Amino acid sequence: MAEQDRIDEAKARYKAEREKRLREDAQGQYSQLTDEYEEFDHDPWVEPGFTREPMVETTQVVVVGAGFAGMLIAKGLLEQGITDFRIIDKAGDFGGTWYWNRYPGCMCDVESLIYLPLLEETGYTPTMKYAPASEIFEQCQRIGRRFDLYPHALFQTEIDTAAWDEDASRWTITTSRGDQLSAKFFITAGGILHKAKLPAIEGINDFAGRAFHTARWDYGYTGGSPTEPMDHLKDKRVGIIGTGATAIQVVPQLARSAKEVYVFQRTPSPVGERANAPIDPGWVEAQPPGWQRERMVNFTEAVTGDKPAVNLVGDGATRLLWEDTQQAAATPEEQAELERLDFEVMQGLRDRVDEIVDDPETAEKLKPWYGKHCKRLCYHDEYLQSFNRPNVHLVDTNGLGVRRVTAAGPVVDGREYELDLLVYASGFEVTTGLVSRLGFDPVGVGGVKLSERWEDGAHTLHGVLTNGFPNLLVCHFIQAGFGLNFHHYLQELTAHLTWIVATAEESGISSIEATVEAEDAWLAQLWEAGKGFGRYSAACTPSFHNSEGARTMAAARNVVHPGNLMRYSEHLERWRDAGDLPGVTITR
Ligand code: NDP
Repeated sequence: MAEQDRIDEAKARYKAEREKRLREDAQGQYSQLTDEYEEFDHDPWVEPGFTREPMVETTQVVVVGAGFAGMLIAKGLLEQGITDFRIIDKAGDFGGTWYWNRYPGCMCDVESLIYLPLLEETGYTPTMKYAPASEIFEQCQRIGRRFDLYPHALFQTEIDTAAWDEDASRWTITTSRGDQLSAKFFITAGGILHKAKLPAIEGINDFAGRAFHTARWDYGYTGGSPTEPMDHLKDKRVGIIGTGATAIQVVPQLARSAKEVYVFQRTPSPVGERANAPIDPGWVEAQPPGWQRERMVNFTEAVTGDKPAVNLVGDGATRLLWEDTQQAAATPEEQAELERLDFEVMQGLRDRVDEIVDDPETAEKLKPWYGKHCKRLCYHDEYLQSFNRPNVHLVDTNGLGVRRVTAAGPVVDGREYELDLLVYASGFEVTTGLVSRLGFDPVGVGGVKLSERWEDGAHTLHGVLTNGFPNLLVCHFIQAGFGLNFHHYLQELTAHLTWIVATAEESGISSIEATVEAEDAWLAQLWEAGKGFGRYSAACTPSFHNSEGARTMAAARNVVHPGNLMRYSEHLERWRDAGDLPGVTITR
C-alpha cells in the first residue's frame, strides 16, 4: 500500500476510535476521591490521630502546596531575602505527587538529571536515568532539609477559606486545623496531579473486595513496599482500571505478584522503549555550574523547539519528538509532512506491539490509534511483555470503558469478572476548574468568588495574575506554558512568581492584579499561538489533554501556551524587563 493510503487509512481509524469514546458528560464522567468516595481518600502514609494547636499568624506569603512548585517557590523566596512565609499541604511531608504516588513500579518518565529539582544545589546524583519514586520523594525531603523548609511547613492541613481583605490589603486564610493566617501574598501551587479522580461507574461502592486508587496504594493489603515484592497477592485476583502512564508502570509489578491480573482497557497507551540505565555515582559533582538548567533547556528545545546541535538527553522522548513543531505548519505541504512524521512515529509504536506481544489478537487491541500528541507517550520495557504471561488478561472494552461494577467485580460485555482487589489507575483532574482542583474557593474583591469570576474558564495574565484577586499568584499550567519536563516549567514559572513578590516588597506595592484588558489580550495571544495545535487536539481521542473532548468556553479558555516552553518564558522575561509592570493595576 502506498504511504499516503496508509496514512489516510490510519486517519479514518483515528476518527472512528475517537467517535467511540466521545461522551456527552466529558469531564463529568469522573468523581473526585471525596464526598461519597471518602473511603478512597485517606492518607496511607501518616499515622492516624495527628493533632496540633491552631495558629494565629501574620506572614508575608502563604503557599498552598508542598510539591516541586511549593519547594521551588520557597527556595526562590529565601533567595530574594523573604524568610517569613508558610507552606501548607494536606500531605504529611514535602513531595506533592511524589508524596502520594508510591505505587509499585512508580518512577519518573523524564530523565532524572533534568526532572529531579535542585540536583546542583543538593549535590545529589540520581541512581538511574529514570529514578524510582522513593528516590524522588527522598530528594524532596533532602530539599526540605537543605533549605530548612520544614519549620515553614504546616502539613496534614487543608485550606478551608481564603478571602481578600480589602481594608488590610491582605489575604485571610483559615484551615482545617483551625489556623487563622493573614498573608500579603497567597500563592496556589496545588500541582497538576493533586486531585485524584475515579470513573463515576455505576455500583463503584458496591464492590465487596478491596479497592483503591493508585495514588493511595495500600501495601497493608498487597504486602511489600515500593521497593519490595507484593507478597500478599500470590493467591489474589487483581483488576486494574485504566491503561495510562500510571497503569503502564503498575501492571508489570502486579503481573509478577498476583495470581491473576485483569487489565480493563478503554484506550491503549503508546509504549516506546525505556532503556533505563544507572548513572555514574558522582556525576553531578563533576559538572560545571549551571549544567542542570542547560540540560533542561536542551531537552525542551529537543522535544518542542529549535533543535539544538547536540541532544544531551538522547532518550525516547527526544527521538520520537525530534521532528516536532506541535503541528504549527505554515503551508499545506508542511502540514502533510507533519502528518506523515506523526504517522511514522505512531506506526512505529504500533509495530512495536506486534514485535513484543505473542498473541496477535491481544497485540491488535494494544495498538494506539491516534496522533502522537493526543495522549502521553509512555516508555516501558516490561508493560507490553506482561501480556505474554499466562496470568495477565487484557479486557478490552472497545472504547467504552467499564460501565458497571457489582459486589463481585467489573462487568464488561455481560461478563462479570470476580476479583479480590480492584485498582483504579484512573488519573487526576488536570484541566478542570482551578477551584475544583484546589478544593477551596478564594474570595476576591467585592466578595466575588474565583468560581464566579472563572465560571467560563480561566482569566489571567500569563496564567499567574487575575483581575479582582489582588496578590493571588496562581502556579499552574492553565493559560501558562508547559513542557514535557514539568520541573523545567516550574523552574521558569516559580522564578517569575518570586520576582513579583520581591519586586512588590522592594517597590512598596501593597497590591497587584491583572487588568481585564491584559487578561483578554493574553488569551487572544494564546489562541493565536495555539491555532494549529488547537485544531490537532480537537481531532484527538478524548483525554485530559483536550478536556475529554468538551467543546465549552471553559475548555477553550483553559488552554496552555503551546509548543516551546522557552517562548512562554520569553513573555515573562519581557514583562519583567519592561520596568513598568504592564497590564496590571497596582496600589501602594
Ligand atoms: P490518565 O488520565 O493518563 O489515565 C487514566 C486511565 O483511566 C486512562 O487509560 C483512561 O482511559 C482510563 N479510564 C478512565 N475511566 C475508565 C473506565 N470507566 N474504564 C476503563 N478505563 C477507564 O492517568 P495516569 O495516572 O495514568 O497518568 C496521569 C498523568 O500522570 C500522566 O499523563 C503523566 O503526566 C503523569 N504520570 C507520570 C508518570 C511519570 O513517570 N512521571 C507516571 C504516571 C503518571 P482513556 O484513555 O480512554 O480516557
